[in-house]
Amino acid sequence: TSSDTADEAVRATCDDASTCKRFATSKGYWKDPYIQYFVRQSGERKAPEISRGYYARVHGVNRLLDGFLRKTKCNCQVINLGAGLDTTFWRLKEANLLPKKYFEVDFSVIVARKLHNIKTKPPLSNPIVATHSTDLLLMDGHSLDSDRYCIIGADLRDLPALEEKLKKCHLDTKLPTLFVSECVLVYMTLEQSSSLVKWVADTFDTAMFINYEQVNMADRFGQIMIENLQRRQCNLAGVEVCRSLESQKDRFLLAGWEKADALDMMTVYNILPQDDVGRIEQLEFLDERELLQQLLQHYCICWATKDKLSLGLLDVTF
Ligand code: SAM
Repeated sequence: TSSDTADEAVRATCDDASTCKRFATSKGYWKDPYIQYFVRQSGERKAPEISRGYYARVHGVNRLLDGFLRKTKCNCQVINLGAGLDTTFWRLKEANLLPKKYFEVDFSVIVARKLHNIKTKPPLSNPIVATHSTDLLLMDGHSLDSDRYCIIGADLRDLPALEEKLKKCHLDTKLPTLFVSECVLVYMTLEQSSSLVKWVADTFDTAMFINYEQVNMADRFGQIMIENLQRRQCNLAGVEVCRSLESQKDRFLLAGWEKADALDMMTVYNILPQDDVGRIEQLEFLDERELLQQLLQHYCICWATKDKLSLGLLDVTF
């Protein structure tokens, strides 16, 4: 059916994200020693503004994530929704910043691929084995549950099934919990993503949600971005939320979150530590600063918090 085709196209986006991240790390924009085990280096070059955009995305999300880990002193859970081939678990393990448990959720096919890489590559499997206490690692082709790392195949549009699978993997709704979604919610309708963020707000008393995706899509540049994705059969069901920073925040505030903030990525780029921004700007020559600006103005980070335990989560910012 056409909806299967659309889901298939959405699943293919995880390769794009990881290929771009691998290319940027190979140029020295940031370090990620694990991504090489998930995607091959493609021969294809990526434009410098794409790599700078990924730099802002990765650093932007990481700064908020690290802020949450600091406030909770790692006595928390992290749940990456639509994680694709993301390597954050391995970064946190190496930095000695692991939460009590790190969960990843994606479609079963993506999870099966990720698990295959984990199983066959010791640099990926060793950190999971090293943080696991018994010799039993619960595992089938579509999920793995260990003491500190868990990966689940599920559709984020089916909340009862998602909740059941997470609970089977010992999700603790009493612990402060951070949800991260990078370029994921845009593929769901506003109704579906709103139900998801409402489920989080209703289920957890102390929580944070970091969402990265398109914004300001109503202008001409936005229209071109939408057409490009549609040409690849991706169903941008949630594109209406990507109208403005206000509509991004409203999705959370209307679903019962205490506080929501949103910044476009040009603003984020300009407030990241400028010595490192200066360093990456030396890596590749960019002759059209305007294109970088346009691109970054069409992505944003929105983060929402609720803090019953008064850990200071409402203050987590850049
Ligand atoms: N977050 C990763 C990153 O930034 O590298 C991957 C981003 S990729 C653009 C989007 C991911 O969301 C894909 O891996 C896709 O399979 C997943 N995804 C989209 N809709 C989903 C759904 N309804 N249920 C589960 N996963 C979904």
